[in-house]
Amino acid sequence: MVTLVAEEARHAARVLRQKKGDDIVASDGLGKRYEAKIVSISFKEVVAKIQSVETGKNEPQIRLALAVGLTKGEKFDWLVEKATEMGATAIFPFFARHSEIRWNAEQIARNAARWPRVALAAFKQCGRSVLPRIEVLKNLAEVISRKKDAGIVAAHPVTESATSLERHRPLQDVIGVVGPEGGFAPEELEAIRQSGGQLVSLGPRRLRTETAGLVLMAKLFFLKAEL
Ligand code: SAH
Repeated sequence: MVTLVAEEARHAARVLRQKKGDDIVASDGLGKRYEAKIVSISFKEVVAKIQSVETGKNEPQIRLALAVGLTKGEKFDWLVEKATEMGATAIFPFFARHSEIRWNAEQIARNAARWPRVALAAFKQCGRSVLPRIEVLKNLAEVISRKKDAGIVAAHPVTESATSLERHRPLQDVIGVVGPEGGFAPEELEAIRQSGGQLVSLGPRRLRTETAGLVLMAKLFFLKAEL
């Protein structure tokens, strides 16, 4: 059986006016999707009998987390929505050296509470089975500490140290990193190199952080699909 409670139960009963006997699709956000038939429904609780289970449905072939340097006034809600639709397994907004914002604990908490709701709405809308985990990180070192077995690929505008992504070996598990509007500081670039990370160019035009995040994701997915 699956049970929907709180907002999800209210939504099914009140907004969608679902009835006993109707079919629903439910997910645990960890990779499982259930097709189920409603056996009882109220505004508080929907109980449904599972008809079939699928794992990993509609998920990309690689695990891709996106880490994004925060900047003032950035379109960050927008990026959370789009990165979720594209298939990010995690999203790490982080305070970069050039982030130029100093949020207090309350401001961090407010955003940290809103972004998962944005991700949840996008997750449901696009039919994923993994809900991206969102964690606000203090600095790039914390991003690197999340990598475990993943490779790091950081987008950096054309310089002699950044090469084109197409020349890199495809990765199965990757954290894509983009800098804030002020770009990466030299010591951050050094930390990326030290961690075995790669710096890649996304082409000759300077992109906004949120654009760069999506372009980096698209390229990483595409390379994997091709090879
Ligand atoms: N003035 C900054 C530009 C920052 S753009 C600088 O010269 O570094 C914000 C972020 O988007 C960058 O840190 C990078 O991660 C990404 N980005 C933007 N355009 C890019 C490009 N053409 N290639 C690679 N990364 C890019």
